[in-house]
Amino acid sequence: MTVDVAIIGGGISGLATAHALKRQGRKVVVLERQTRPGGNAQSERIGDFLMEHGPSTINAASTAATGLSTDLGLDDQRCDLGEGVQKRYLVADGTLSGISAGPMGFLTSGYLSVTGRLRMMAEFLLPHQLDGEDETVMAFCSRRFGREFTERVIDPMVAGIYAGKAADLSVSAVFPKLVALEREFGSVSLGMFRRYQQGAKMPGSRLYSWSDGIGALPRALSARLGGCIQTGIAVQRVRRGPWGFKIDAGSAGSFDARAVVIATQPHVTAQFLDGLDDAAATAAGEIKAPSLAVVFLGFKRNQVDHPLDGLGFLVPQGEGRLINGAQFGSTMFPGRAPEGCVAVTGYFGGARAPDLARLPEADLIALARKEFSDLIGARGEPVVARVKYWPLGLPQYEIGHMERTACLRDAEKHTPGLFVTGNYFEGPSVSSCLERAMKTAQAALGCLELSDRGVKAQYELRAQ
Ligand SMILES: Cc1cc2nc3c(=O)[nH]c(=O)nc-3n(C[C@H](O)[C@H](O)[C@H](O)COP(=O)(O)OP(=O)(O)OC[C@H]3O[C@@H](n4cnc5c(N)ncnc54)[C@H](O)[C@@H]3O)c2cc1C
Repeated sequence: MTVDVAIIGGGISGLATAHALKRQGRKVVVLERQTRPGGNAQSERIGDFLMEHGPSTINAASTAATGLSTDLGLDDQRCDLGEGVQKRYLVADGTLSGISAGPMGFLTSGYLSVTGRLRMMAEFLLPHQLDGEDETVMAFCSRRFGREFTERVIDPMVAGIYAGKAADLSVSAVFPKLVALEREFGSVSLGMFRRYQQGAKMPGSRLYSWSDGIGALPRALSARLGGCIQTGIAVQRVRRGPWGFKIDAGSAGSFDARAVVIATQPHVTAQFLDGLDDAAATAAGEIKAPSLAVVFLGFKRNQVDHPLDGLGFLVPQGEGRLINGAQFGSTMFPGRAPEGCVAVTGYFGGARAPDLARLPEADLIALARKEFSDLIGARGEPVVARVKYWPLGLPQYEIGHMERTACLRDAEKHTPGLFVTGNYFEGPSVSSCLERAMKTAQAALGCLELSDRGVKAQYELRAQ
């Protein structure tokens, strides 16, 4: 089979890239190892419960995501966060501490000590650092906002978004806007205030999903792509051919493509780059993705004491708990639990404790039940219990990440027709993957147009 572009990996990144290319009339094929496309983005109905195996929310500020939702006809299924979401919760001394969602929440609640709050507010008085050395999120935020705020707020947030640790991740890769604000204004809070005065939105974003969960997005993309998707195909090797690339899929045969987009997890990308660009293969291979387990539990409403009036909770590492955080799915969106029931999801493993995620399912369920019993007063046998294990969870944007992704971008320049996309470039969120996918599709189109012009010129030359 010969195509314009072969896309390896049918997660959100690969599907969105393929969709954008197909819309421009290009012949594409998406090769996906699993039997179902979507990668991390899978929603599962369990009776009248709905479990999200991976992502559960989309950032409403992302134009790439909202544009695609409209384009795919998903807007009438869109659900915004429920009115029950009143607070954010963090664990303090073994109990949930509720903080109101406004920007002043941390200043007005007693979650941080008075000294911690004063230190946080003093940020704009502190000298700035402009030496350009990358720092960890922990070092940067402790320097600017103090250790208490960083350990009790930022680190749990990093565990929630990246399944990572603030002490390991690069601030330039994870929070580039904070670094830029310090550079430009000498202070993050002053910079935010100035930007706000200039009309920018304050951080904090609205979140949404669809009535059948995030899985609606890959389903709609797959429906548009139709026969262009081939599932159950594990690509083994990518080689350069005389007219582009040869993609070897073992017993499933091989595919010839003028351009190739590698949209797999970084360790798989590393295997494909081996032999095409060794430096980029090494860079991709260095991106860690620790194991993660998602434990979904459904209870009768009267089995749970807590009002569940928030998104869920995050856990500072110093609390010494085994759970990293949780979401109150049935509060967040309608249709996540049957009448009279609630759905909660616990997240285990990640960079804090990858071995924990590898425990047998029964142990993980028992662990989640214990954590939910301690923290939200969940009692008795759950109505449903399900575990999703991700052997390689989320990519860790550790110190050196910017250099690694620069090396991958260089590989695209050195090897015309080769493109790399995925959740380790511009952020792990679905919306960041979509934004990167749009840029990848644009670059692939540019490359095909250039080659079309080259071929046309050759024909014209021969005809003269
Ligand atoms: C538990 C969890 C919770 C999350 N929560 C959120 C959230 O609430 N909001 C949010 O915005 N984001 C969230 N994310 C992040 C987001 O879901 C992911 O970053 C995103 O879906 C990744 O998409 P991707 O296509 O880049 O990669 P993937 O989804 O990993 O897709 C890569 C694909 O490549 C395929 N593949 C691998 N090897 C081969 C091969 N040899 N041949 C062919 N195909 C191959 C894989 O099977 C897979 O389908 C979460 C992620 C996880 C794991």
